[in-house]
Amino acid sequence: MQNSDNLQVLLQDPNLSADLKHIAQKVLNKQRITFDEGVLLYEQGELGYLGTLANYIREERHGDKTYFNRNFHIEPTNLCVYDCKFCSYSRLLKQKSEGWEYTMDEMFNMVTKYDGEPVTEVHIVGGVLPQYDVPFYQELFARIRAHRPELHIKALTPVEYHYIFKKAKIDYATGMRLMQEAGLDSIPGGGAEIFDPEIRDQISKDKCTADQWLAIHEEWHKLGGRSNATMLYGHIEEYKHRVDHMERLRRLQDKTGGFQTFIPLKFRNKDNQMSHVPEVSVIEDLRNYAVARIYLDNFDHIKAYWAMISRNTAQLSLNFGVDDIDGTLDDTTKIYSMAGAEEQHPGMSTKQVVELIKHVGRQPIERDTLYNVVTDYTNFVFGDEPKPQYYKLPVIN
Ligand code: SF4
Repeated sequence: MQNSDNLQVLLQDPNLSADLKHIAQKVLNKQRITFDEGVLLYEQGELGYLGTLANYIREERHGDKTYFNRNFHIEPTNLCVYDCKFCSYSRLLKQKSEGWEYTMDEMFNMVTKYDGEPVTEVHIVGGVLPQYDVPFYQELFARIRAHRPELHIKALTPVEYHYIFKKAKIDYATGMRLMQEAGLDSIPGGGAEIFDPEIRDQISKDKCTADQWLAIHEEWHKLGGRSNATMLYGHIEEYKHRVDHMERLRRLQDKTGGFQTFIPLKFRNKDNQMSHVPEVSVIEDLRNYAVARIYLDNFDHIKAYWAMISRNTAQLSLNFGVDDIDGTLDDTTKIYSMAGAEEQHPGMSTKQVVELIKHVGRQPIERDTLYNVVTDYTNFVFGDEPKPQYYKLPVIN
């Protein structure tokens, strides 16, 4: 059976509207869809239809390959000068006693705990506080780089960069160059939320604007760096805002080609100022992954954070355009668990990640941050694995 067979069946379906057939034909012809067609997909595309289109694109690009990496997170602080309404993580105005502020040495020690472990990436992101400034991060990156040169440093979002560069009175180009010289390898996708100014103003006033977020990524791409992009969905935004968000990313990607992966982030409503807003269903999560895969024709990868949407939904998402389920994590992030994600202690051994992917008939590929293949686990046979020894973080429950 050819990858296009399901699409052909869909094109023959007498019950499918002419507009949706037109979009399916475009996907088959590898043509870009328009803004209005993106909105139409959200409004009228049923789960089976969207899955057929998204899976076709996914398999054309990656076959059954499903990527993950071995990583750990450092979250320097959960205190923050900002007050995003959806944030379950920041503790500045609420319970400051529940906060943490790691020192340089504490963060460096977290890195040395992984000496000899086969991790390939450290992911550093957290709240925004004045003491974490340009010199602080220059020194942190340089110390990590000197200690373990091959460990990929993926760190900080434009929310942090905008704040620390403004404080240092330097422009984005200079700031990103300094970060690169200190050892920064790539930028994660966070802080994008929703670009539409009216919605952004309501949920995360004061922090960097959409244009500033995009400008920092653009400067980083000009230096030859790669980055990711996220979108916080399922709160007060409308479908047109999601498409607008992806449209802005698609335009920048046309210009720079520096994005690797798009990561939809589901709004979770536990313990934040938007707890009255109901969460969207798993069906809507899957539809959203699928529309993203169809709309972002110039992004190589669509990622589902298993720690945020649960292992089962991550498995399902592999049929809706997703080809990456993030990393082993090693219980080193609190961002999703504090927002009410099913995974309260997110960590999987490599064997568990591999089995999760194999159980749904896909091909597990361990990658590094830049998608170079580290190990193809398709025919790999595991011996007895030692039980993972998690590095303990301060626990807030
Ligand atoms: S989302 Fe980020 S910037 Fe906003 S309050 Fe939370 S930690 Fe701070």
